[in-house]
Amino acid sequence: MRRMLSTTALGLVALMAASCATNPVTGEKQFVMMSEAQEIATGQQMHPEALKEFGKYEDPELQGYVDRLGQTLARSSHRPDLPWTFTVVDSAAINAFALPGGYIYITRGIMTYLNSEAELVGVLGHEIGHVTARHAVEQYSRAMGSQLGLTALMIFVPQTRPFGDAAGSALSLMFLKHGRDDELQSDRLGAEYAAQNGWDPAGVMGMLRALARLDETEGSSRGVPGWLSTHPEPANRVNDVQPLVAELRQKYGDLPVRRAEYLNRIEGIMVGENPREGVIRGNAFLHPDMRFALDFPEGWQIQNGKAQVVAKEPNRNNFVLLQLIDNPERLSIEEVARRSMANAGFRQAGGERSRVNGLNAYLGLWQGQMQQLGDVAARTAHIEHGGRVFLVVGLTPANEYRSNEAVLARSVESFRPISAAEAERIKPNRLRFYTVRRGDTWQSIAQRYDAGGMSAARLAIFNGFAPSEQPREGDRVKVVVPE
Ligand SMILES: [Zn+2]
Repeated sequence: MRRMLSTTALGLVALMAASCATNPVTGEKQFVMMSEAQEIATGQQMHPEALKEFGKYEDPELQGYVDRLGQTLARSSHRPDLPWTFTVVDSAAINAFALPGGYIYITRGIMTYLNSEAELVGVLGHEIGHVTARHAVEQYSRAMGSQLGLTALMIFVPQTRPFGDAAGSALSLMFLKHGRDDELQSDRLGAEYAAQNGWDPAGVMGMLRALARLDETEGSSRGVPGWLSTHPEPANRVNDVQPLVAELRQKYGDLPVRRAEYLNRIEGIMVGENPREGVIRGNAFLHPDMRFALDFPEGWQIQNGKAQVVAKEPNRNNFVLLQLIDNPERLSIEEVARRSMANAGFRQAGGERSRVNGLNAYLGLWQGQMQQLGDVAARTAHIEHGGRVFLVVGLTPANEYRSNEAVLARSVESFRPISAAEAERIKPNRLRFYTVRRGDTWQSIAQRYDAGGMSAARLAIFNGFAPSEQPREGDRVKVVVPE
């Protein structure tokens, strides 16, 4: 990871020749770090990385639909000639983002929260706005320095990235936090692009309102950076964009939101984790394809990243990490353990060959130093399973090792194979519809369809309602059901 990040950073520094350009949206002269050609080249360079990191959501029909809408908006934008690309990425996070040069990404997660084509167009138009107004370019330049510290925990450099979502990766560069002015400008551009092409510009507000409600009910403490952490203040933004929406409605007349069309398009879309990348159930991590499970300590926060799965004790610097270790030379487990830990800069303090739940393993104790943590102790298990080597590391400040040893060892040695039948039972959840009957409430519907683990409030927001509103008899509402 570290190697990749610094290569990217160097590439960009080389690209950045400061220049003055005319802003395509405002027409004003603007100091930017990249020319348009450089901007496109940067996007082209990062796009394959982005696809590798997030994974494209496998649904050609849905991809085609989003691309068609995006291209329609982009053609009428201030920069119609960029190589615009729209991709639905396989992430449960609620987010959308843009890379310089016209590369737009929208998560399947946010798509499940939208309730009309006008809202989808609002999201796409907003991201197009970041590109046409060149926010990304400015931000991108500024963000380079501050993001480099993110690899602090990536002590082992994996060649393969088998797990989950993209937090904490080189692609964190995509999770730029936009300023309020940029957000407002993009909201306005999104509303304009929508109205010009025949969608109700209020879709931008509908999308913002849903995000504001999520913010209120649950805060923004999700594992993967979401829209709320990269696009601040959705509640205020609803008010800010309102006058323009009213103006556009005057100018273009009554425009459709196309709710039914949108809902038909997203029927069956995956909701929540994709089991192919492992799932978190309580404090356990299960990987049905690689057929294993691991228990993290109770109450720790678990993050399923592409390169590793990390659990952290709240408010403490204690971690359990899970990674795959490459072993192309087919070395013994003992040798793999020694080399991988030495490569990560650790000294051995103890170790032995052992078995962990029937699997061939090497258990070790190591000392090292880590950025931001200082002296650390690492309790490890290198485990052979299914032709692969897995590494589980319990990491703690050296002077706290004694008090944490038991908890770390229990987690590290909980790695175990799961049966084909157990793996088979781990299925994704999908979006389906339910027609509201007399007497139904969000509470009763949430109880009937509790597959997504959604609260009544969240189910209301999921359907574009405020938690205080109730569905009406005959409404077609979204629910989450197991496959
Ligand atoms: Zn934005």
